[in-house]
Amino acid sequence: MDIWKKLHAVEQNFFAIEQQLQSTARALPDPIFVIDEFGKYLDVIGGKERSLYHSGKFLKGKHLHDVLPENLADTFMQTISAAIADNSLKTIEYQLNPDDITGSPPDNFKKNQWFEGRIYPIKDRADEVHSVIWLSINITETKKLEDRLKELSEKDILTGAYNRRHFMQIFDQAFSIAKRYKTKLSVLHIDIDNFKEINEAYRRDGGDAVLKRLVIFCEDNLRQSDLFARYGGEEFIVMLQNTPSLGAAIIAERIRADIEQMSVTYGKYTIQFTISIGISSVLDSDSNSAAVLSRAGSALYLAKKKGRNRIEIS
Ligand code: GH3
Ligand code: MG
Ligand code: MG
Repeated sequence: MDIWKKLHAVEQNFFAIEQQLQSTARALPDPIFVIDEFGKYLDVIGGKERSLYHSGKFLKGKHLHDVLPENLADTFMQTISAAIADNSLKTIEYQLNPDDITGSPPDNFKKNQWFEGRIYPIKDRADEVHSVIWLSINITETKKLEDRLKELSEKDILTGAYNRRHFMQIFDQAFSIAKRYKTKLSVLHIDIDNFKEINEAYRRDGGDAVLKRLVIFCEDNLRQSDLFARYGGEEFIVMLQNTPSLGAAIIAERIRADIEQMSVTYGKYTIQFTISIGISSVLDSDSNSAAVLSRAGSALYLAKKKGRNRIEIS
């Protein structure tokens, strides 16, 4: 074979490979954006999966700040600059709405989708780094699953209230903050009176209806900064931030009195019940959060001993 034929064969081979690469890139389900150091979209490759990605072709030639909300464009720019500066992979998670993107063609694309961006610097012909490839992956389903798992690990299935584990985590942090900044922190330990009798009279489902009603009442009547949780069985716990024991006693007495007046409808029955509440607050002498909970428990015990349907402070 003469040299020209050889060269032609090499050239043909080269074009075949290039074509193969191009069609592979175009067929990629996830989009890849090539973005320069000034935030200009140089190219948009792939992103074929229309159920997960809005068409990004119109972005080519535009700048991040032309198309994205300012705060998001700023964050994207910082990430790109960091990837170029360290010559390393960066990842970020972000939420995007098609309405957020200026100039995006009308589409039935789903709202509030979550994406993970994987940003990697690329070298140009002079072996210098002035741009990045930005691989975008739709992680909405993973995010939903994460949220669901978090909810399952933090909440009680029967009542939907936070569970004891979640309470302990938050209360421990609040205790440390209260100690450090000398702020007031109180807890209410709530226990339904004679709950065994309610279960006996109306069966367990009747008891469950009472538990659910109590949770709705407390969640509706406590402040945003308070944390209410099911402590176990028919016992509940409330953390009251920036609240001294007198303030906690006023709140506890209001809850006790309101519950006494409340009726729970369960089938053809109307159930009335009462609660007892033990109150405690963080003291200078407390070295751990368990001491505060232990005093609330003792106060509750005293309330029961003194006849129930009452509050006690320890
Ligand atoms: P006291 O006034 O001294 O608090 O008496 P009590 O009967 O309320 O207290 P006790 O601790 O003896 O009984 C609590 C009962 O709560 C026993 C348990 O079977 C019941 N219980 C625990 N969890 C649930 C639940 O999820 N649903 C229902 N219906 N009952 C529950
Ligand atoms: Mg109990
Ligand atoms: Mg009880």
